[in-house]
This record gives sequence, C-alpha cells and structure tokens, in this order.
Amino acid sequence: MGASKPSNLPQRLLKWYDAHARDLPWRSRGGEIPDPYAVWLSEVMLQQTRVATVEPYYRKFLKRWPSLESLANAPLDDVLAMWAGLGYYTRARKLHECAREVRENHGGEFPRTYKELLALPGIGPYSAAAISTIAFGARESVVDGNVLRVMARLHGIQTPLPKANKKLGELAALMVPSRRAGDYAQALMDLGATVCVPRKPGCSACPWKRDCIAFAKGEANLLPKRSAKPVRAIRSGAVFWAQRRDGSVLLRRREARGLLGGMMEFPGSEWRLGEQAREEDWLAEAPFRVRWQRLAGEVSHGFTHFRLRLVVYAAIVSARRGRWVDVDALEAEALPSVMRKVARHVERNWNR
Ligand code: SF4
Repeated sequence: MGASKPSNLPQRLLKWYDAHARDLPWRSRGGEIPDPYAVWLSEVMLQQTRVATVEPYYRKFLKRWPSLESLANAPLDDVLAMWAGLGYYTRARKLHECAREVRENHGGEFPRTYKELLALPGIGPYSAAAISTIAFGARESVVDGNVLRVMARLHGIQTPLPKANKKLGELAALMVPSRRAGDYAQALMDLGATVCVPRKPGCSACPWKRDCIAFAKGEANLLPKRSAKPVRAIRSGAVFWAQRRDGSVLLRRREARGLLGGMMEFPGSEWRLGEQAREEDWLAEAPFRVRWQRLAGEVSHGFTHFRLRLVVYAAIVSARRGRWVDVDALEAEALPSVMRKVARHVERNWNR
C-alpha cells in the first residue's frame, strides 16, 4: 500500500460515491430509507444480467406490482410473461415463490439478516449480502466480478481467477466500514462499473489510485489474470412451428424444473450434445406427421454452459388439441429469448 492509511480507503471511496454515484431507479437518494422490496427486486434481476438490460424490466415490474403483496398475489404466468427476455427464468419463478413466502411466513416484511435472507427462495450468498447491507445497513461484504477485479488490482494480486477468488473475498471483507456499509457496497460496484472497468480503467479519476499497486506498477490493464476458460459445448435440436389456417401457433409448457423451467415454447426435439443430427432424426420428434418445410439457416442462442443451434421446421396443420395462440398474441406469452428468436426466424424465412 502507498502513503495513506488503508483505513482511509473506504472513506475516500464514499466521498467519491457522494459525488459520482450512478443514478439507478432502485437506489434511494439523499438519506431516503431504502425500500427492501425495491432492493430485492433489483438484486434478483441483476443476477447475471447487466444494469442497462434490467432497468426497463425493473420499471415495468414496479409499475405493475408496486408492493410485495401485489407481486405475491399475481398469477405466476403473468410474472413469467413480464420476465420474458430477461433470461435465467428460474429467477422469475423463485421471485414469485419468495414473495409468497415473505407474505406467508414473515408477515409481508423482508427479514433483515444475511442468514434469514439466504433461506429464502432465489436468494444466494451474493444477493443476501447485497440486500442486508443495502436495505438494512448490515456490515456485509458484497463480492461480484467487479469487486474481484478492483481488489485484484488494488492489492496487486497476481494469482489468476478463479483461484484467487477466496483471497480477494477476504481482502474485500476486511475493508467494509461499519458506517454506511450499504453505500460502500454500492460505491464499490460503481467504481468497478464506471472507473475500474475491465479494459482501459480510468485510473486518473479513481479515488484509490494513490494506494493501488496495479496502478503503481503500470499493470492495471493486465490484472486480474484468469485461468483459461473451457470451451463451451454445442447442443443442437429441432423446433416445429405448427400453424393453423386461423393464424394460431402451437405452444407447450416446459417442465417446471430445469433450464427455462415453466416457460412456454414451440414443440421441439431434445437438445442433444454435439452438432446437428440427420433430418429423419429430427422429423421423428415432430408433433404431427405432415409435410414439414425446413427453413433456411438456423437459430443460435448462447446459454451459460452451452450454445444451442436449432433447425426450424414449419407447416400448416389442422389440429385441435394443445395450446394454440394467435401469432399476434405471442408477445404476451412467457416465451424465453431463444423462442422469440425462433418466431422472428419463421417470420423472415417461411414462404407459405
Ligand atoms: Fe482500478 Fe486504476 Fe483505481 Fe487501481 S487506480 S483501483 S486499477 S481504477
């Protein structure tokens, strides 16, 4: 560390935060008491999702369900439909489950401690720490990718991530102040998001540059180091766009558990590991025996652990059983992003 005492670091960061905090819709301003419902909603949405993507969803949710009670009373399908496009859909089901649990077992008030919050559906260690410190001022350390990066640079840690994560978490925890712990957590997130960014950090504007080892050594751009990433697997599948003459399309619901649990989809094959299979293998899994037209191109979508490549078949069918939804009403359905891509692909490529 440089000339100033490490104990000054939190205070300097807070001073910087008072002048440069990002204006985010879920943040309380100028001494307002944070609304735990708003903090919780934003934290669940922000799990694995960027701030800019979350903002419009957060506003829509809060407008439609301004309180925990109203969200708990909403049908799950409405919540899933409103969540569509935000990804990681288990979060939406857990959000709803959590709202109900807080209403049933906590008298409609969020519990305040890390441990109690962690016991609620959809709240992992990161969110529990963030909610308890931001909404209730608990002295918890909130460590995400931004914080790991800032700590690695500030302390000049050469060990690559993720091996260094534990050590970096410990260093971060030692720095949390007892006063304004919630503001400190948000200040650190802002520093990582706006100044100590992954590429070309803005060290000249950083309140910690005097103490930063990476800056002193000219290594800010080189840290943190990372172990080589494993190559992401490929899965492939077929999806069937079955449309009736009245303009409605067949949908089905996915299993409640697992990837995209409880969301709607167009019928399709299993998603198999590896590259595309043969035509007859896909057609064996079609919902109807009709003349399917294979559309040009394919739909590609990235999930956390694999990339999915879908071939798309379309046909006009006459059938009654199942859930048929007018093409113009698909917008209101709880369709995940990959299925919305399929709908766009059909619109562009199907010559009826
Ligand atoms: Fe990050 Fe630069 Fe600040 Fe160090 S001085 S914490 S590298 S922005």
